Amino acid sequence: ERQKHIRNFSIVAHIDHGKSTLADRILELTDTIAKRDMQAQVLDDMPLERERGITIKLNAVELHYKAKDGETYIFHLIDTPGHVDFSYEVSRSLAACEGALLLVDAAQGVEAQTLANVYLALDDDLEIVPIINKVDLPSAQPEVVKEEIEEMIGLDASDAILTSAKTGLGVPEVLERIVSDIPAPSGDLDKPLKALIFDSVYDSYRGVVLAVRIEDGIVQVGDTIELMSNKKRYEVTEVGVMSPKAVQKDYLMVGDVGYITAAIKTIQDTRVGDTVTLADNPADKPLDGFRQITPMVYSGLFPVDNAKFNDLREALEKLQLNDAALEFEPETSQALGFGFRVGFLGLLHMDVVQERLERDFDLDLIMTAPSVDYQVDKTDGTTITIDNPAELPDSSEVKEIREPYVKASIMVPNDYVGPVMEIAQRKRGEFVTMDYLDKYRVNVIYNLPLSEIIYDFFDQLKSSTKGYASLDYEVTGYRASDLVKMDILLNGDPVDALSSIVHKDFAYDRGRAIVAKLKETIPRQQFEVPIQAAIGTKIIARSTVKAYRKNVLAKCYGGDITRKRKLLEKQKAGKKRMKAVGSVEVPQKAFMSILKMN
Ligand code: GDP
Ligand code: MG
Repeated sequence: ERQKHIRNFSIVAHIDHGKSTLADRILELTDTIAKRDMQAQVLDDMPLERERGITIKLNAVELHYKAKDGETYIFHLIDTPGHVDFSYEVSRSLAACEGALLLVDAAQGVEAQTLANVYLALDDDLEIVPIINKVDLPSAQPEVVKEEIEEMIGLDASDAILTSAKTGLGVPEVLERIVSDIPAPSGDLDKPLKALIFDSVYDSYRGVVLAVRIEDGIVQVGDTIELMSNKKRYEVTEVGVMSPKAVQKDYLMVGDVGYITAAIKTIQDTRVGDTVTLADNPADKPLDGFRQITPMVYSGLFPVDNAKFNDLREALEKLQLNDAALEFEPETSQALGFGFRVGFLGLLHMDVVQERLERDFDLDLIMTAPSVDYQVDKTDGTTITIDNPAELPDSSEVKEIREPYVKASIMVPNDYVGPVMEIAQRKRGEFVTMDYLDKYRVNVIYNLPLSEIIYDFFDQLKSSTKGYASLDYEVTGYRASDLVKMDILLNGDPVDALSSIVHKDFAYDRGRAIVAKLKETIPRQQFEVPIQAAIGTKIIARSTVKAYRKNVLAKCYGGDITRKRKLLEKQKAGKKRMKAVGSVEVPQKAFMSILKMN
């Protein structure tokens, strides 16, 4: 029957190793898209114009493949999120699959990011089909790459498929191997509905569109569904599959991967990893692996031009329509004026949002260094939560400060355990345990303050493990720590947006490092600018930016007018991301200097 003919899989690959090209070939060979309609890289982000229509992008397509055994199989190709550091989202997409195609460039070999995602796939017990791509390249070394796969991943690569996604070589074999190697979905049609949400997208006509994998049961138009994490109920208005455009169906049943719409107004109600069930015949328990995602990292976002405050709010509201994890509220800074305090999942999420605001909404922004949230017991007996260092009360009013701690799992190949432990110790880490997952991989577990993770942890981890470490963490609670507020004074005035909360033991070193960094990043002005770091009234580090430098135009002795104009334009572009703080012009970089200590 139908279920036996379903194959659900993802393609795991490092960027540029040919994932999109292979997906295109698979779509062509299965006649999902006629060759004449083929535009390169169908699975990749649709441009905004197309997004506005009814074709929205969901990370899954349904294909029909007539195999050599004469039977027709239903393939669901599920795309993992582009930003692989969202390991929770990636893990939920993989949880919707029984198998993964591991695609490795024959000339480049196994790369770090491939490894991180293969680890996630192995964790989910997926069947992995190794593929070595770009064998048409003169520099291809498939035999070497096979060995790499065996040594670094511990996967038998003797029967790896050799392909050229470019010419199509080997792709028919890929299709056959999907049928033979990847198991059909298990699950039970007669059990109450259990569907995994692995993605969701907001559509202005239909409300939130849920991408789901049906684990048990069946769902049809008219059913009342319930989201198990928050008990919210909705009536199903449409179900269907992407092929690759939306195709309506009467129902989705066990093993299927498709979409559900139910006039859901806000994406904040729909959480990746949540379970959809039926209100009148609910499943007894939700699927494993759900995690409530909440902001972990907060940062102030301010328009360089104060008049753009409303534009910034509208842009954030628009982004929020499609981003369940994004939170914000207005914030006022003495130094930077009106802006928003924005909560993010992590640093990468922060980068993505910042980039979209600047690129898609054409806003010039100043962003303050990210902070975690702190619980503060005051001497007057009250407890407050702050996510902005500038709000920390004077030390005389503070009894205890607690900071979020995480349990961090760092997966690395054996050889890198030493460097990983060194970094974790330096970051106030408390060793918990170490598991050997197999001959090659170790999972090192530490309790760490979240604030230390956002301060440059991932970069250090990557650089000392050649990029092979993957990091995952979960907040476990709050612990009291010896924390103090460090203020930065420019020209004698404290700049609220440059305040940070640091551990006492690190205060002097960080103070000195920040001052040194600010001295590098703040350009010379017409007057001398003293920079100081202070804890309370005590100055712990100081430096000075010397007065003015020569006029840029002085260099071009009058003559060449285009060169002059170019220089002026360059200077103007540099200025754009500057903000006058009191009388001092401070560039965006300076606000981030708190982060990079080395
Ligand atoms: P993705 O980042 O993994 O989605 O990679 P793409 O599919 O975008 O491919 C990256 C580049 O490699 C593109 O320029 C492709 O044309 C090229 N490419 C993909 N597959 C092959 C192949 O089998 N042989 C050769 N020579 N180039 C390929
Ligand atoms: Mg691609």
